[in-house]
Amino acid sequence: MANLTELGVAAIREGVAGGEFSAREVAEAFNANVAAAGELNAFIVTTPEKALEAADAVDADRAAGKPLGKMAGVPIGMKDLFATHGVQTTAASHILEGFKPEYESTVSANLWKAGAGMLGKLNLDQFAMGSSNETSYFGNVVSPWRRNDGGNAALAPGGSSGGSSAAVAARLAPAATGTDTGGSIRQPAAFTGITGIKPTYGRCSRWGVVAFASSLDQAGPMAHDVRDCAIMLEAMAGFDPKDATSLDMPVPEWEAGLNADMNGKRVGIPREYRMDGMDQDVVKSWEDGIAWMKDAGAEIVEISLPHTKYALPAYYIIAPAEASSNLARYDGVRYGLRDLPDGAGLQDMYAATRAEGFGDEVKRRILIGTYVLSAGFYDAYYTQAQKVRTLISHDFKNAFTECDVILAPTTPTASFPLGDKVDDPLAMYLNDVFSVPASLAGLPAMSVPAGLNGDGLPMGLQLIGNAFDEQGVLNAGLALEQRAGFTAKPDKWW
Ligand code: GLN
Repeated sequence: MANLTELGVAAIREGVAGGEFSAREVAEAFNANVAAAGELNAFIVTTPEKALEAADAVDADRAAGKPLGKMAGVPIGMKDLFATHGVQTTAASHILEGFKPEYESTVSANLWKAGAGMLGKLNLDQFAMGSSNETSYFGNVVSPWRRNDGGNAALAPGGSSGGSSAAVAARLAPAATGTDTGGSIRQPAAFTGITGIKPTYGRCSRWGVVAFASSLDQAGPMAHDVRDCAIMLEAMAGFDPKDATSLDMPVPEWEAGLNADMNGKRVGIPREYRMDGMDQDVVKSWEDGIAWMKDAGAEIVEISLPHTKYALPAYYIIAPAEASSNLARYDGVRYGLRDLPDGAGLQDMYAATRAEGFGDEVKRRILIGTYVLSAGFYDAYYTQAQKVRTLISHDFKNAFTECDVILAPTTPTASFPLGDKVDDPLAMYLNDVFSVPASLAGLPAMSVPAGLNGDGLPMGLQLIGNAFDEQGVLNAGLALEQRAGFTAKPDKWW
């Protein structure tokens, strides 16, 4: 029998359906890898019994000749931003420690309905704010990758979906959920040599996903390859009347529609993404990507996204503004932590709970968000940032009259050592420079592994598509994947 933990979503589903192995055997194999990988700190809570329970249900359905779902027999990791009924859900924050939701998020419910099982709740940056997974109250995740210099420097798995990226790269799960507000699926995928797609805003319901910045937050899959992402996204997506911004559109059959032939397609290369002093390995990988797209039959066109340089500052106003409002609900009354000093009144309890419960990065965002929304500064910052957001959307709209899909690096560099940027928020925020524009415009965007840099670390290439055109993104991603031939994986040291 194949080494089950080397398999991805499609291979597991097919093996289970064909009776090559049972879903229980798959769940047991991944549960064992999870249990042996404590050093990576990828999970906040493990739920081996849930994985087994779902597997047994799939095996029973198969034995009874019942039809199997799209994710039948596939155990997955669930980012701890998705509310899971009866299972602690923390957003990696002390303020939610001990919170066991009475409800299930729509996305996770959709996955369970499709036959997936839960291996556990994955670590992340606190409230999904961060790019290195170092803001988690439950400690940082360590990337399974190491540089090829013989040193043992612990590297960042990316963030905020750092538990998801580390778990998939280290074969603790064949796939995991992620969420992406400004890059949190794509950047960690790029850092760990895996594939992740953020769909068009509204494709996946936000109901039951702990809110960070509601106009940007989107869920998506993180897995080994494009096909696995297509399968899992189909299972996750769909209209949900419980989310007012949910797209009321049928979910396309992305897996069946996969086609790597790029003949007749125009791939746009945005001039403004070529930045001064760019990492030479990243530049080289972008050039490789362009050559692969040509080889797949695409026509390469240079495009302009003139407002790109304003995207990052606009994001770091809009996202904190929305966060400051969303996080107002954590007051010590309704969820998780309560800090009630002796003789304290209600206001003191709110203040004490929030002071104790939120981490430094979360507090920084709440302060920035409150400031930019305050009466005297609203127009100067928030209104201005919203105008920039509109201009960025127009840039993309214009670009998509000249091309079908956009190719760019996912991140300006490969992974960096833990601790390197944690005291320098601006350096940390710069990680998001290539991922934030598509988020502001609500567009589908994916990261595909493109190769290793000089240090032996993965780099990702990003594909950005027009609204609702996940298929175009997945297809271009498949063409890249087939030519990149990325098979590298981290040597096991944990
Ligand atoms: N790194 C970005 C931030 O810190 C994006 C996070 C995300 O997409 N959730 O805001």
